[in-house]
Amino acid sequence: AKLEAFRNEPFTDFKQEASKQAMEAAIAKVRSELGREYPLHIGEERIYTEDKIRSVNPGNLDETIGYMSKANQELAEKAMQTALSTFETWKKVPAKERAAYLLKAAELMQERKAEFSALMVLEAGKNYAEADADTAEAIDFLNFYAREMIRLSEINETMPLTQVEGEDNRLTYIPLGVGVIIPPWNFPLAICAGMTSAAIVAGNTVLLKPASNTPVIAYHFVQLMEEVGLPAGVLNFIPGSGAEVGDYLTTHPKTRFVSFTGSKEVGLRISKLAADTAPGQIWIKRLVAEMGGKDGIVVDETADLDAAAQAIVSSAFGFQGQKCSAGSRAFVVEEVYDQVVEKVVQLTQQLRVGLPEHNFPIGPVIDEGSFQKILDYIEIGKQEGQLLCGGSKAEGNGYYIEPTVFADVSGNARIMQEEIFGPVLAIGKAKDWKEAIELYNDTEFGLTGAFFSRDEDRIAEALDTMHCGNLYVNRKCTGALVGAHPFGGFNMSGTDSKAGGYDYLLLFTQAKLTSRKK
Ligand code: GLU
Repeated sequence: AKLEAFRNEPFTDFKQEASKQAMEAAIAKVRSELGREYPLHIGEERIYTEDKIRSVNPGNLDETIGYMSKANQELAEKAMQTALSTFETWKKVPAKERAAYLLKAAELMQERKAEFSALMVLEAGKNYAEADADTAEAIDFLNFYAREMIRLSEINETMPLTQVEGEDNRLTYIPLGVGVIIPPWNFPLAICAGMTSAAIVAGNTVLLKPASNTPVIAYHFVQLMEEVGLPAGVLNFIPGSGAEVGDYLTTHPKTRFVSFTGSKEVGLRISKLAADTAPGQIWIKRLVAEMGGKDGIVVDETADLDAAAQAIVSSAFGFQGQKCSAGSRAFVVEEVYDQVVEKVVQLTQQLRVGLPEHNFPIGPVIDEGSFQKILDYIEIGKQEGQLLCGGSKAEGNGYYIEPTVFADVSGNARIMQEEIFGPVLAIGKAKDWKEAIELYNDTEFGLTGAFFSRDEDRIAEALDTMHCGNLYVNRKCTGALVGAHPFGGFNMSGTDSKAGGYDYLLLFTQAKLTSRKK
């Protein structure tokens, strides 16, 4: 049968009682399975280690999600050897067959959507809509990259090379080799599944080191890939510490590429380590890194101010601001500054903080380290701006922080420049829309941005001059959709790759030209 064109998986409407109840039931089911021990997957082997990562519900610290086995260097080496030998067979599997595993996985994930989402509610602290969007995006990545691999494998039919008399010229995208996949905890299913599936569908074998805060959801993805029959050794699962396992594999001579999503600090460290050539290494490692953001929304005096305020609030506080796309800054022109700030504060004050499983709009941040770091930034903010709401931790047996708004923050303030990755919004005043754009552009990052205006000329200029990978007009700056909004940014936001875009798989392949004399 012919494969249908890619379509985004729709979001669930939790205003419908039935959907809400289905999620509650899924949470109850997932909860009955908490506290298990999980193994590493290396080839056919399931390895339980003594040393384990305890994964905790960040919204209820007494609840253990599971105990994840932890690889050390010896196990990482074993996984590398397995991935290397499996690569010799996997690279020969036709693209269509490789894609079929992803399509099947997407189908099963779709059937079990509520359970995958429920696990994220408990392990990552996402509310229903955030968790549901994460699962939908994971399904999208699987469906999209499967189709993309098929398209690339047919490139000679759709985009033929110039044919020279007497020659048959063809281009093939062949895989690279063994890749190390290091996804983040903030989209513990979507980005984990996206990064992993892109690499394997392109014909590589991988070593997946999940984020230590969310290893159980990653494990469920790995299990799903096993269930659809992905050959053993293609996807090896090796949770472990970045300093031990991450560094070991990044510097390994047989590592062909590293695909990383996470903080700027870790990304730069990987970039440095991966740039060195280890004895016996015969290639330049490829690095695909998606790093941080200090994204922002610009509002001029012609804009729909209610829509702008709404977008500022949802971009700043969706999943507690723990997105690299989060709109942690807003620049509003003088003329409407007070009005917009007031609307933002009103909307923020309506956001209740509480347990994700009860679907509060604002849940906990991910762990103790983040919690302390964000609270420290809030203290810095109190010196740098005017605190209008929030400003401290919130009640609950978890890492709860009030959504916090600072106004009158200058462009060079630390809370305007440094990524906080928490529910903290800094608002700055600009004399006009041009200055607002300048303030927006004054950052080392360049991931997402939004411009609110009704003036066509200004919109045209903003589209041209706001320097970021994902620029939106009159809408929020989070929530990129696979296929529709290929995602990734400039400068310190990463290596300019576009997840969910038409050139993403090329990053995991190399092009081989063959020219045959007729
Ligand atoms: N793609 C997500 C969005 O558009 C953000 C991904 C991330 O935070 O890494 O909101």
